[in-house]
Amino acid sequence: MYRGIWMHPWDFNRNAIAELSKFGFTHVSLAVRYIEERQNWPGPNIIFQNLQQRTYTSEENAVYWSIEKDKYLNIPSYLRPIQSQEIKGDIVEKFVKACEENSIKSVLWFPTLRWEKAVRDNPFIGVVDIYGSHPSYKRMFLCPSNPDVKKALSIMVEELSEKYEFNEFEFDFIRYPEVPTTYSTPLLDLALSPCFCKYCKDAAIDYGINLEEVRKVLKDIVEWHVQYFSKLQEYCTDLDYCEAMYLDFTKELLDNDIIRRWLKFRENQINKLLLQLSKIIRKNNPKAEISADLYPPSGSWLLGQDYKELSKIVDRIKIMIYVKPFKRSICRIPYEAMLARKLVKNNVEIVLGLASWPPTTPEDIERQFKLALKLPIDGISFYSYGWTPKVNLLKIGKLFKEVKV
Ligand SMILES: [Zn+2]
Repeated sequence: MYRGIWMHPWDFNRNAIAELSKFGFTHVSLAVRYIEERQNWPGPNIIFQNLQQRTYTSEENAVYWSIEKDKYLNIPSYLRPIQSQEIKGDIVEKFVKACEENSIKSVLWFPTLRWEKAVRDNPFIGVVDIYGSHPSYKRMFLCPSNPDVKKALSIMVEELSEKYEFNEFEFDFIRYPEVPTTYSTPLLDLALSPCFCKYCKDAAIDYGINLEEVRKVLKDIVEWHVQYFSKLQEYCTDLDYCEAMYLDFTKELLDNDIIRRWLKFRENQINKLLLQLSKIIRKNNPKAEISADLYPPSGSWLLGQDYKELSKIVDRIKIMIYVKPFKRSICRIPYEAMLARKLVKNNVEIVLGLASWPPTTPEDIERQFKLALKLPIDGISFYSYGWTPKVNLLKIGKLFKEVKV
């Protein structure tokens, strides 16, 4: 059984890896480039496992390996990686070595299309909605169709896979962004989704669709909502109302061939990028496994992730189902896992990504763990080492020991 945990570079040290090995973890995923610490997420935002530093705000541009600057001279400056100034040294090298010494599999965790600093430096490399505006909070996402983006990511993956003998390469943020709306409808969220940049327009023509036509359809949906919300006095969250919104959404998708083909096109763009990057790893480090962190399958197709197609490229998929901190139902765990099993090729492993940070308690972890054991999956991974209080880590260790395989 896969027993993983995600680790931030600022929490890495050799003793931590040794400790995780004793707890029974089989895999540790280390972020090799920028990942947000102090997220706008529910949780106390203190680092339980870092004795030196209980708080940290990550550098937005950093990578955590010794980069060879010459490799990046042919790409624009805003897409060149910059080695961390705060977390010194080649953390990736030290991490891979520490894992080897402790019989733990090293996973290079690569946040792929999320890079707000680069998009702020040049907004034209980010995804854009039908109005040409970046649809995600803080301009987070790069466009997967942009040739400079693809080139920059390819060189980073090339460098990592040439230099380090890791066991697994894990692609995170390999998708379009969620649209940050609160008082919305599923149809409006879809209408505000990207991307309509010039590279996507060209790629869409090759795929056989016209993004101008899509834009018109989505604009009408937005205008309908402008009228609707103008009349709405109080936003409603009744289950009955939500069901009606989803029925309307379903009807639109059934009737609207243009939207359906656009969604397929977006999935195709994500697939192509993942395939391109995965080929580099297969070539340079053929022994390494490849995995992708995916949105739960009930909604992944809205962000460009097609489980069926993606599972033809990777060896393992990880489904993020963080329940307690986001007030999600625990019933999502079996539902999403069973959905994924239906879609994913049989020889591809499924790992559940579970939250181990507060307000998640040891009792929650036990309940979710025991539920997961009944499902057709291959393991569990916890987010994240730094955020996990000692009592939760002890509980995980105890549960691992109780499981035979
Ligand atoms: Zn685009």
